[in-house]
Amino acid sequence: MRDIVEDIKTRIDIIDLIAEHVELKRAGQNYKGLCPFHSEKTPSFMVNPSKQIFHCFGCHKGGDIFSFVMMVENMTFQEALSYLAQKAGIKLESTGHGSEIRSGIKENLFAIYKEALIFFRNNLKVSKHAISYLNKRGVDNETVEKFSLGYSKNEHDALFNHLKAKGFSFEYIKTSGLISSGDHGIYDFFRDRLIFPIFDLQGRPIAFGGRILSESKNAPKYINSPDSIIFKKGETSYGLNIAKNSIPQKGYSIIVEGYLDVISCHQYGLTNTIAPLGTALTSGQLKKLKRFSNKVLLIFDGDSAGISATKRSIELCYKEGIIVKILLLPQGEDPDTFLRKYGQEGFRKCMSHAISPVEFLLKVYDRSKLDAVRYMLQVIASCPDPLQRDETIRELSDRSKINELTLREELRHASRVKRQASRVDAFQKSGISSPENMEEKMLLSIALSFPDKVMLIANNIEPQIIEDPVIRGIFEKIKKWPSLEKLLTVCDKEEQKLITMLSINTEIDETDVEGIIENCLKTIAMKKLERQIRLAGEAGDVKLLNSLLFEKKSLLQKSKLFLNGGNLAKN
Ligand SMILES: [Zn+2]
Repeated sequence: MRDIVEDIKTRIDIIDLIAEHVELKRAGQNYKGLCPFHSEKTPSFMVNPSKQIFHCFGCHKGGDIFSFVMMVENMTFQEALSYLAQKAGIKLESTGHGSEIRSGIKENLFAIYKEALIFFRNNLKVSKHAISYLNKRGVDNETVEKFSLGYSKNEHDALFNHLKAKGFSFEYIKTSGLISSGDHGIYDFFRDRLIFPIFDLQGRPIAFGGRILSESKNAPKYINSPDSIIFKKGETSYGLNIAKNSIPQKGYSIIVEGYLDVISCHQYGLTNTIAPLGTALTSGQLKKLKRFSNKVLLIFDGDSAGISATKRSIELCYKEGIIVKILLLPQGEDPDTFLRKYGQEGFRKCMSHAISPVEFLLKVYDRSKLDAVRYMLQVIASCPDPLQRDETIRELSDRSKINELTLREELRHASRVKRQASRVDAFQKSGISSPENMEEKMLLSIALSFPDKVMLIANNIEPQIIEDPVIRGIFEKIKKWPSLEKLLTVCDKEEQKLITMLSINTEIDETDVEGIIENCLKTIAMKKLERQIRLAGEAGDVKLLNSLLFEKKSLLQKSKLFLNGGNLAKN
């Protein structure tokens, strides 16, 4: 296994691999770009070609090509292995069970969904029931084709039998989520439903949404395929595969609530319309949308559920630095009903009255202006774009008639609270509890960046002297496994994270590495002594205190002691 991993690593360059997902620019010894794992405006995602590792200084994710693929594609290690092996042109030997199934799982799910789509589309052509529903909703044939609409028969296992006849194994069909099996045997997940296929950006069907056609039973009106290895609900929008072409042209996207709203909008020429999938809008969906335009028009229902969905969406848009406007339709209307009544012309007229988030919130909070202002300040504080923040605060002052300077002072306060919270969070995430152990970090950083200095450092420091438990753990292993490659394989997750972060360190003065090492060793020893002195003082142990103070004095007098065979363990 180890051999295959190394074999793959020598054949795939991390820069090429990551460049498929992130736009990378050279920055000294590293490449940098916008992190794919968190939202940011200035790049803190670094890739080091000589060490073949990446690290994000914003969210602290890092690792090698395997960790990257596992995180970005949401794969297990086994899946990442077979994915990368295929990319590298290496044939994996079957381990007897499991691995072969997993290696082909994505391809099989794509194939199953493709086949199911054909099946559903053919069903629709002969179902009077479904066609009459579409006619009633005013959906024309061209739109049915464009969105590849389908129908699932009101039968127990029609799709299952079809897929089996096409040669797919029970295991794969079950993994696709298109069937359920239980006490009542095997049955299709979608029965008697109008089918809305959901596509990825490459135009492959990856899931289905289904609307029930018989208004009976206790069945929910809409259901979706479950999440799978090819489908993440929180990162997929309905209609984006089609709208992605016209969003950049029109300069913005329209977000509506449901499948039929999207379909109506497209039919009436609003081809930049998409919808979240059944649930509320997510930041994952906005991140994908932002690739095509950072302007959004929200059209949700005017009822209380619609209003809270709009509020949540405004929050998310600001967090992503997306400029957002809101369209309020007349009471009781949704885009579908409105378009059918007033047509494109009426809709455009209505669109010209779209309002800003500030107007929307002042309207929604109505009688408690201050609540609206406080809420909006929180939203502004989360926005990474200074221009958007500035513009919004000016508008907030205009409309609320509250002095702009007062608002800016409040905003500073809100931002400070937020920043402190996130800084504490970042420290905790990185496993480094305080900036006090800077020297320990620096020393480790040098050990990782300068292979010829590893043994010098390792021989001059005893791990027990190190205060930070994560750094200590790494130093315990580094003597035995000085190469970065090997070291990463014997370290736990926390340790790996710190290693990737510290080995991409751009701040070391390369002209005086030994001087830095010496200073670090000295400071670490001094800090340890000072901790002991404090403890001895607190305990009232005069004898110990005296000998420690003597030790401190001699440590201060000695120079160049550590690198010439001195051993810090004696302290
Ligand atoms: Zn990040």
